[in-house]
Amino acid sequence: MITHFAAPYPDNEIPRAQRVTELCYLDTVQDEVLDRIVTLAAESFGVPISLISILEEQQQWFLAKVGIAVSSTPRDISFCGHTILVDEFLEVPNALLDPRFRHNVLVTGEPEIRYYAGVPLRTPDGLALGSLCIIDRQPREPLSARQRATLHQLGELVVYRLHELRTTSFIDRPTGLMNRIRLEDDIHRHLSAGEEPLLIAVDFLSPLFLNDIVKALGYSFPQHLVKEIGRRLSALIGQDCVLYRIGLTRFAFIKPFGECLSTLFSMLSAAFAMPVIHDGIPIRTQMGMGALQLDKASLNGRDWVRLAVSAADNARDLGIGWSVYQGELDVAQQRAFRLLSSLSSALEDREQLNLVFQPRINFETGTCCAVEALLRWTHPALGPIGPAEFVPLAEKTELIRLLSLWVVEAAIRQAKQWRENGHHFKVAINISPSDLEGPAFTDKLVEFLERFQLEGSALEIEFTEGALIKNLAEVRLQLKRLRALGIDISIDDFGTGYSNWTYLKELPATSVKLDRSLIKDIQNQEKDRRLVTTLIDLAQRLGYKVVAEGIENQANFNTVKAWGCSEGQGFFIAPPLTGQELMQWLAQDGAAQRFALDENIKDL
Ligand code: C2E
Ligand code: CA
Ligand code: CA
Repeated sequence: MITHFAAPYPDNEIPRAQRVTELCYLDTVQDEVLDRIVTLAAESFGVPISLISILEEQQQWFLAKVGIAVSSTPRDISFCGHTILVDEFLEVPNALLDPRFRHNVLVTGEPEIRYYAGVPLRTPDGLALGSLCIIDRQPREPLSARQRATLHQLGELVVYRLHELRTTSFIDRPTGLMNRIRLEDDIHRHLSAGEEPLLIAVDFLSPLFLNDIVKALGYSFPQHLVKEIGRRLSALIGQDCVLYRIGLTRFAFIKPFGECLSTLFSMLSAAFAMPVIHDGIPIRTQMGMGALQLDKASLNGRDWVRLAVSAADNARDLGIGWSVYQGELDVAQQRAFRLLSSLSSALEDREQLNLVFQPRINFETGTCCAVEALLRWTHPALGPIGPAEFVPLAEKTELIRLLSLWVVEAAIRQAKQWRENGHHFKVAINISPSDLEGPAFTDKLVEFLERFQLEGSALEIEFTEGALIKNLAEVRLQLKRLRALGIDISIDDFGTGYSNWTYLKELPATSVKLDRSLIKDIQNQEKDRRLVTTLIDLAQRLGYKVVAEGIENQANFNTVKAWGCSEGQGFFIAPPLTGQELMQWLAQDGAAQRFALDENIKDL
């Protein structure tokens, strides 16, 4: 039995094998220096065969060889597997007399080994990669001490050369950073280990601009500039994160999945807002960052680096700063993904979110009785995003909780300020049904009211009745708590939603808001007219005040007023306004009671 004599695996096999993958490109290394070392060994010892053998898990590979045709054999029949277990030297003067090797197929068959002498190829930290050996087809006398020393020195030379090869093939000379080959290797290692981290590529200059720089300042200028960029970038991404240089002005690094890309991008762009200076010449970088998640399902099938780079280029070209490569997603999904992944940083950035306020007037007095707080998001790269787009996205995640709390705090702060300045209209806040599926939101709202010393009657909650409500009993409980604080409760989008009359009756609401889609065509659609009048009648019978929204013209204003709605809102009265614009509007249209004038109803 051959396997009976197979060399056991050393105790440090795992780190040993890892070092082999790091140092020896088994299928690619073809190096003249290593070739010369084996030739020299064969000649100086007068043997037909000499090998540099590297041990992988199952195989031994010959990185360099003379006198033998095959380039690998199974590990369990290798002599080399025994050599790595010894400290300095393994010698077999006659294999036929050695019980470990007597029946080995390399002895009984080709290449009919009789004599073997090998030294382990040990790295400075003591891991044996394989061996350098000499082989004869005849038995031989043992080597002299001097000959042993020579073989040992040749072995050291091999290890030295392997380190040197690794350095030249993995290091980017100008910057001293790891290069693209190394990155690809590391990506492969992550995927083989079943990990799926994020690959992030950052480009700092557009090719056109780079061209101009080279033309004006010579090729060495960007090389130096890039060293400075590399230094800044290394410091930013952290000590435990390896930075790779993957192109003239391109870099890459790997972060665990879950890293907040928009925070990362903000940090990088803040650090590169200052020009990079070389030779006293400041250059402003134009950064683009691209990211993608490695996917172990396609271990070998993808050019990951190229995809990340194209996402980075794309981001720079579109002026959106950063983007995520999402090959399988369509454009709408990519936008949704992008919005969601930048929403959490928007919540921390005072510049991005704000509230605007749309006045609502009381038909009887013509004055502003409430304003509806509507959320606005100015995305740093994509510009203004409407709540109709991002609120439903946020509702699919836990982010809606933070978003609702942001709105409540901002609205209460603003309401308090208006109260102090003598204004008495209410501030209406839109909330998502899911906010009421537990006590947390209401608790927080109470906390804000206390903190800002505002009474509940200064607020109104606009609540959309919908099939979305999962736990009606809990929602009703929370609405009751809010109502008990003096907060008005309005059922938003009335007439379009779920309209389960049984539960509608049980909600502690104070008013309903007729949806703007119902109001739009009341001048010419008889069906809509009948629907709206019926809804008004019904709501009033249930004891609710009726508010009409989406009033866009004089005719609709007059009609809903005549039909008995008590309050109205819409572009005809005022669009959503900033806090400051609202104050101006109040001073002019609002205070002049323009909306109470009789002429408003003349054309009924
Ligand atoms: P909504 O509650 O029905 O809000 C009224 C929407 O109608 C606002 O759009 C407003 O700008 C628009 N509007 C007002 N008057 C007119 C008009 O005369 N004609 C027309 N065609 N439209 C008018 P906006 O601001 O885009 O809000 C869209 C929706 O986003 C809101 O619908 C609301 O459901 C949601 N939303 C807005 N802010 C928040 C928020 O802070 N939290 C939550 N959960 N949802 C919000
Ligand atoms: Ca609303
Ligand atoms: Ca509405």
